[in-house]
Amino acid sequence: MKPDTLTQRAAQGGPRTLIIGDLHLSPTRPDITQAFHRFLEKEIDGADALYIVGDLFEAWIGDDDLTEFSLSIAEKLHAASQRVPIYFCHGNRDFLLGPRFARRCGMTLLPEPEVLELYGETTLILHGDSLCTEDREYQKFRRLRNRPWFRMMVLSLPLALRRGLARRARARSKMSTQMKDARIMDVSPTAVEAMMDKYGARRLIHGHTHRPAIHDLPQQRQRMVVGDWYTQDSVLVVTPTDATLYSNAL
Ligand code: MN
Repeated sequence: MKPDTLTQRAAQGGPRTLIIGDLHLSPTRPDITQAFHRFLEKEIDGADALYIVGDLFEAWIGDDDLTEFSLSIAEKLHAASQRVPIYFCHGNRDFLLGPRFARRCGMTLLPEPEVLELYGETTLILHGDSLCTEDREYQKFRRLRNRPWFRMMVLSLPLALRRGLARRARARSKMSTQMKDARIMDVSPTAVEAMMDKYGARRLIHGHTHRPAIHDLPQQRQRMVVGDWYTQDSVLVVTPTDATLYSNAL
């Protein structure tokens, strides 16, 4: 029988890989931080790996922005990484998270997409924003954002200025998100299919859309989406035989 909760699932043991994303950790939401700490302390032991598929932080403006908050998260992650290997792929909110802070957290940075053989299935892991190809305005910004000179330029600005820019970018994104069609904000089925074809993948795992689900696709393929942590946690557990989404109210 399938366990009802992640705690019961953890107690059952056996090979499994955990995937989470879109926690949007921030000092303004201590309840999410607390849920994340509980998760790292109680739910990951015995797992083969933990994948964080981006937007771990609500905002990341550079590895030099070491605050009490970011350091405490790094400390907890680093302790957890001694028990379970932790992998991280960038989200659109924390695309500036660099190797220095990743090392501090004990996390391995992944390319996009990460292609791996997960229990015998070719699996793609990514944040998912690159699949929202209908949102042309965002994709334009994304191309700019990925240019090394753009990142270097941003990171060379004083921290105080970067904080202000991040605040303004968040306000702007909130406004434009409210105005955009729901379909535009989701992944494009064509982009999903093209990416899976390119890598010969049977499974694609992502976050970003905050629409947790396991979608069965043609050709026995699956697209698995982890949810955000705004009102509940959301953890995808993949085993050699199945995949299940778990969530608990915060
Ligand atoms: Mn995102």
